[in-house]
Amino acid sequence: MRILVVEDDPALSRQLAQAIGDAGYAVDSAGDGQDGWFRGDDESQPYDAVVLDLGLPLMDGLTVLKKWRAAGRVMPVLILTARDNWHEKVAGIDAGADDYLTKPFHMEELLARLRALIRRAGGHASPQLTCGSVTLDTCNGRVTVDGQALALTSHEFRVLSYLMHHQGELVSRSDLIEHIYAQDFDRDSNTVEVFIARLRKKLPAGAIETVRGLGYRMVRPQ
Ligand code: CA
Repeated sequence: MRILVVEDDPALSRQLAQAIGDAGYAVDSAGDGQDGWFRGDDESQPYDAVVLDLGLPLMDGLTVLKKWRAAGRVMPVLILTARDNWHEKVAGIDAGADDYLTKPFHMEELLARLRALIRRAGGHASPQLTCGSVTLDTCNGRVTVDGQALALTSHEFRVLSYLMHHQGELVSRSDLIEHIYAQDFDRDSNTVEVFIARLRKKLPAGAIETVRGLGYRMVRPQ
């Protein structure tokens, strides 16, 4: 899962990147509206969700959001409003925001709302994703097989989480790379195969299918 944070306050931006990263997501940060708009507009690397401050230099958050929506970018967007200003919230929702938080906010609340947005965008109403005997709890990041907890590294978790959110669908290797690594990370597609191989050793046989030459698919094992 890749999250874009657009926030010009350096201290808050760092806190957000840290907390969202610790929650198991890959995070890219932009410090002004122009850069934020540009990153979020890149169709080849869609984000799973965006945290967007409204008060930004170069291009304000509302304009960024309107431009994304006008261009058909549908990723869930959570806006941050500087003060308890209902005009701003209404304008943000009218511009296509999916949720909002007023500063100051508790990081835990932001994370809970992000999880809910990502879940709803994936069409999952429950915080628990299940595929056969495999269960992933998006609230606490716990993965179990037949009720037994699995120990996963953060990258294994990201790969599994993406596959579980898109179970039954073909997921290409480049999709996985985009969703598990932050922008500046050295992306080596061979590492995806390594993570998949490790996951296969931990999951029931047949849970991750290889679609030759195209990618992978998470399926309910027979
Ligand atoms: Ca700001």
